[in-house]
Amino acid sequence: ADAGRLIVVSNRVAPIEEGQPTAGGLAAGVLDALQNMGGLWIGWSGEISDAGSRILPEKQKGKIRLQTVDFAKADYDEYYRGFANSALWPVLHYRSALARFSRSDYAGYRRVNELFASAVADALAPQDVVWAHDYHLLGLAAALREKGVINRLGIFLHTPFPAAAVFMTIPVHADLARALCQYDLIGFQTESDRRAFEDYVLREADGHLLPGRALMAFGRVVRTGVYPIGVQTEEIREQAEPPADCPQMARLHRSIGDSKLIISVDRLDYSKGLNERFQAYERFLEQNETRRGDVTFLQIAPPSRSDVEGYREIRLELEREAGRINGRFAELDWTPLRYLNKGFARQMLMPMYARADIGLVTPMRDGMNLVAKEFVAAQNPIDPGVLVLSQFAGAACELKAALLVNPHDPDEIAAALERALSMPLAERRERHAEMMAVLRRNSLTVWRDRFLGDLNGRA
Ligand code: UDP
Repeated sequence: ADAGRLIVVSNRVAPIEEGQPTAGGLAAGVLDALQNMGGLWIGWSGEISDAGSRILPEKQKGKIRLQTVDFAKADYDEYYRGFANSALWPVLHYRSALARFSRSDYAGYRRVNELFASAVADALAPQDVVWAHDYHLLGLAAALREKGVINRLGIFLHTPFPAAAVFMTIPVHADLARALCQYDLIGFQTESDRRAFEDYVLREADGHLLPGRALMAFGRVVRTGVYPIGVQTEEIREQAEPPADCPQMARLHRSIGDSKLIISVDRLDYSKGLNERFQAYERFLEQNETRRGDVTFLQIAPPSRSDVEGYREIRLELEREAGRINGRFAELDWTPLRYLNKGFARQMLMPMYARADIGLVTPMRDGMNLVAKEFVAAQNPIDPGVLVLSQFAGAACELKAALLVNPHDPDEIAAALERALSMPLAERRERHAEMMAVLRRNSLTVWRDRFLGDLNGRA
């Protein structure tokens, strides 16, 4: 199997034209592997074509070949906006009440998985292995098996996998589970995600446990594993020390001076707990009068999936809440909450993390949350900031030295903020060192090599 190439499939391919430094978690880990092993990356071009769906000619970038696929309008509506982001995403994040399911969306989801499978099948040599990514591609292996493909197929799920009873709110849950079991290896972010899947298969799909975290289900053997995605600590720390004349940092410094800085960075998504976090910050300001005027909460929240139902509403809600909280507490010379509804290049975020006294990361549910890990990696170990982290982020399984909070509890978050702001230097250093040791041990390279090692059967 070692001689085989790697074929990566994900909803989008990384924009490698713009150069590798901007690539985030998935992209950086995968590009590196493709560069080493040689191989092909397949994904959506981002284009909707009037000519209907089509597989575009390959492009070569160094040792990496890229193949993109254009979607028809119906593909985008049913697969991407529909089943993937209006049904799967909410349910996988324990928000079944927000899910909108339709048979036609699911048909579109399967159709696009078949389209990707056609692109894979065209390129596939006997020794190649296929690594699919995330909730968009739960049906890829099933589509490939139908074409007679017997290669090793693996998928890594970047999102949580919910408790069986929650997963079963998806009307086609049985079909999805059967399709998933056509993979040889299914990777999860945390042991509890893996266990939830196993539990579903054992109890609802008549599966049996085999030695070595394997399952017998739907007439096949499927292995499961836990591979928490990591970050490139050294690169992040380098980026965190910007050149002295960096204009963006100069602006930030000029405007906040020496006051304490709390930073949050999230896609504008209901899973991130943004509104709950705003309420918790308000509680903190209510309870800690002496901190007023001397602390700034900087929330960076780039818009996301604005054409999916529900996302526009949270944006309006947050604008209203940010305005209300500022209206209530602001002074002539102090704005308590800065809400930036736009994104920043990754390299720009790192120095902002480093300047912050607190990284406030409180998703209601998150597969991993890379921002939490990046925040830790960006800190100056001599005088590190404190991470306040939701217990429901995958990252909480590893970053046990953070101040862990329940995102549903504004009083607990408010208390953690005050505790973080008054934490002695020695304790901050100790907690930071402990978390850095974890991050260094489980680097992005380790994540990728462990998954591919298991997929190739070298475990
Ligand atoms: N990010 C970025 N610019 C922004 C906001 C976020 O580059 O304005 C990056 C961030 O550094 C992180 C990723 O986007 O690497 C977000 O990953 P995470 O796991 O935290 O959340 P997701 O968006 O995947 O749910």
